[in-house]
Amino acid sequence: MSRIRNDPRAERATKMVAEAGRRPRLDLGRREAAPASGRPRRDPWREWAASLAGETVTGPERKRYDRSQRQMNRADAARFARARPSLDATDVSPGQPALRVVDEPAFLIFAVVEAAGGRLSRFDRQVLGAARLLADAGDGGGGVVALVACSGDDLTKGWGEGLGEAGADRVLALPGAATPAIRAAALRGAVDALSPRHVILAEAGDSADIARRLAACLGEPLFADVEHLTARQAVRAVRNGRAEIGLLPPRLMTIGEDRAKPHEAVPCEARPLDAAAAPLPDDPAILSVEIIPGDPAKLALSETDFVVSAGNGVSDFAAFRDLAAAMKGTPGASRVVCDAGLMPRAAQVGASGTVLAADCYLALGISGAPQHLQGVAGCEHVIAVNTDLHAAMIERAGLAIVQDAQLVMPALLKLLQEREA
Ligand SMILES: Cc1cc2nc3c(=O)[nH]c(=O)nc-3n(C[C@H](O)[C@H](O)[C@H](O)COP(=O)(O)OP(=O)(O)OC[C@H]3O[C@@H](n4cnc5c(N)ncnc54)[C@H](O)[C@@H]3O)c2cc1C
Repeated sequence: MSRIRNDPRAERATKMVAEAGRRPRLDLGRREAAPASGRPRRDPWREWAASLAGETVTGPERKRYDRSQRQMNRADAARFARARPSLDATDVSPGQPALRVVDEPAFLIFAVVEAAGGRLSRFDRQVLGAARLLADAGDGGGGVVALVACSGDDLTKGWGEGLGEAGADRVLALPGAATPAIRAAALRGAVDALSPRHVILAEAGDSADIARRLAACLGEPLFADVEHLTARQAVRAVRNGRAEIGLLPPRLMTIGEDRAKPHEAVPCEARPLDAAAAPLPDDPAILSVEIIPGDPAKLALSETDFVVSAGNGVSDFAAFRDLAAAMKGTPGASRVVCDAGLMPRAAQVGASGTVLAADCYLALGISGAPQHLQGVAGCEHVIAVNTDLHAAMIERAGLAIVQDAQLVMPALLKLLQEREA
């Protein structure tokens, strides 16, 4: 319930006495009712009494500031509406999250993603986020095409799962097990066929190589290692980092790691594109290509994507090694375990061991001391198994299992074996 709020100005006006030849003065003794201001006011006492009596208290809605940043400003909302012409109630089935559908994009942005092992890396998502930024900023709403290094069959089997959540409207397979020269030639074919407004690649590994080959065969400049990207400007360092240069976002660019934000809004459609499969060109310099995956057990901790690590809470090291091998993870350990000679010193994760750049870290029986957590600061996904619910590692983890590691390890192994069978 609400009551009418006092209007102090009106009250003051009723007490004002004006006498001829004298200055206006206030008659403080006068007690005339001032006209109500009409602004509603909450009556907390009444609400409290009503709530004690079990009544539902409703009152007129009051305007409030929303500081949650959840609402878009008008310009963003208009742009977003243009970019998703068919995002409406029909796209949202009950119980399903909303899906952003761009039926006829006004232009295309290519994002080349590696998706090594079928999983999108953090860097892949950043490349897609940069493409999404440019697609949403352009007139009429653009579409992001993710060019994934795999075969068309792999795509249907869920390769690069999460492309839609990462901001891809369309997905196109580029040859995966091929040399950068062949992949660049295939990418050039896609560029000729679909004429994208921008092509964005990661400034790392094969993507950086492909970008340079593509620029050479298209005869276009490459704006490499972009450090800051907005809809109006791409900025990169020059003269060994002593100066920087900014341009309108050029057509071909590579972006540095952690330089763009991944897409976090409504998931996109990630519709597979039916492109006529052009015959792959031969690479005269290389006669055969076979990609041999590295043995995770022998990879350096700083280079691996997935680390399975043991702490003082692990006593069954045979099960730990079997689990790490079955999960194709690189074994790591806390300092206590290395000091005890149960794992080699090279396996130590942390400030005085190796600082990881892995995507995923599985910590078994590790408390999460600050020196250890420094080593996993860059890991995107942390999974902790610990008997102590209040361990710092559980707090750091995105997924936690509060259970004895000696029980969890064989259970996980059994699940993996069942899946393989
Ligand atoms: C200068 C300095 C540098 C250091 N650098 C590093 C470093 O680089 N890396 C590093 O790791 N440490 C480092 N340390 C050591 C660090 O401070 C911690 O002592 C160490 O990380 C603890 O290792 P832990 O978590 O395995 O063992 P503990 O602290 O003993 O924790 C064991 C955890 O296992 C849990 N647990 C127990 N039983 C079970 C069970 N059956 N199942 C599941 N969970 C169980 C417990 O609840 C506990 O959380 C450094 C220390 C110093 C002083």
